[in-house]
Amino acid sequence: MTDTTAQTLKDRARTRIEADSKSLLAVSHEIFEEPELAFEEVKSAARLADLLEDGGMKVERAIHGLETAFRGTAGELGPHVVICAEYDALPEIGHACGHNIIGTSSVGAGLALSELADDLGIRVTVLGTPAEEGGGGKVELMNAGAFDDATVSMMVHPAPLEVVDMPCLAIARAEVTYHGMEAHASAFPERGLNALDAVNLSYSAIAALRQHISRSERIHGIITHGGDAPNVVPKMASATYYIRARNLEDLKALKARVIRCFEAGALATGCELELVWAGHDYSDLFTNPTIAEFYDSNLQNLGRSALPRQVMEAYAGSTDMGNVSFAVPSIHPMMGINSLPAVNHQADFARHTISADGDKAVVDAALAMAWTTIDLATTPGAFDKVRAEFEAGPPTETRFS
Ligand SMILES: [Zn+2]
Ligand SMILES: [Zn+2]
Repeated sequence: MTDTTAQTLKDRARTRIEADSKSLLAVSHEIFEEPELAFEEVKSAARLADLLEDGGMKVERAIHGLETAFRGTAGELGPHVVICAEYDALPEIGHACGHNIIGTSSVGAGLALSELADDLGIRVTVLGTPAEEGGGGKVELMNAGAFDDATVSMMVHPAPLEVVDMPCLAIARAEVTYHGMEAHASAFPERGLNALDAVNLSYSAIAALRQHISRSERIHGIITHGGDAPNVVPKMASATYYIRARNLEDLKALKARVIRCFEAGALATGCELELVWAGHDYSDLFTNPTIAEFYDSNLQNLGRSALPRQVMEAYAGSTDMGNVSFAVPSIHPMMGINSLPAVNHQADFARHTISADGDKAVVDAALAMAWTTIDLATTPGAFDKVRAEFEAGPPTETRFS
């Protein structure tokens, strides 16, 4: 196909996304108004699936045994583009990660591509992926085969700043419970085994460890239960920790060091340690260079310019899209919503996801993903190049220097 044809298709995508923008933004605001937590995103998933169905895509709901997962599909033959939609929120602070923008922009891109799929010779899926903030819906879906015939995958995440190749850390989640013995805290303290002390000692041990880990590594936690009454020696206390490192291999080594801190609390107090690794470990993110290059040039056509990866390495988070990116060539760029000083996981950031800039990100992210897919499908050899890069693996020297 000639570039003129690609441009015509991009113009058609823009026309469709602009026509759909009113309903996309309405749903982004509705999801914002009723935030739902991981695996409980019943209304949010239904709203997005309804948009896909009303827009003419074939929709399946509650797929692969996950009630809040769904897919909308179009196209019969050719490379398969899977666009991931997220829509889960955070406890207390609602859509402070802006997944209302992710869900609606992915639906917008999918609908635009659905009417071009046959012209492009591709298949398009919008995959509703629950529980990114905890649980790992994409990993569940991947294990169930939802990405098996995907050629490429993509999604766009809102952020304070614009970045195409987002540095992301591998992450594990530890649920720690100490079991001790209750006793009267004044009359018979010698008969108690203090589980809160065990949590406290492990917390302090981790705080000490933190000074001697790599700059890119992170350990952070909260105490989820600290006892029931001051005059009863706590027989049970618990904590949840997130542990992050630059890849799964480093994560394994760091987990071993953190486990020793957990064990220290049990050893010192005589309590019993119960350790559960919750959900799925997320891997780091392997951004495909060719998809990223197309995305970046489309971003520039939208008047946006991205910061280089290295600038963002100090600000890394984690995502279950990381696991997808090691199974399917993928991108997971961050799109700026002009929120500073508010950043992700602050209540103020949530408000920015429905501002004029938040709404613009829904439309721009949909356009950037649709146009990137059009570039991939109309540039001879592009999918082969993507595949070759994927098979070569990530360039280690540019990851968390
Ligand atoms: Zn988040
Ligand atoms: Zn997020």
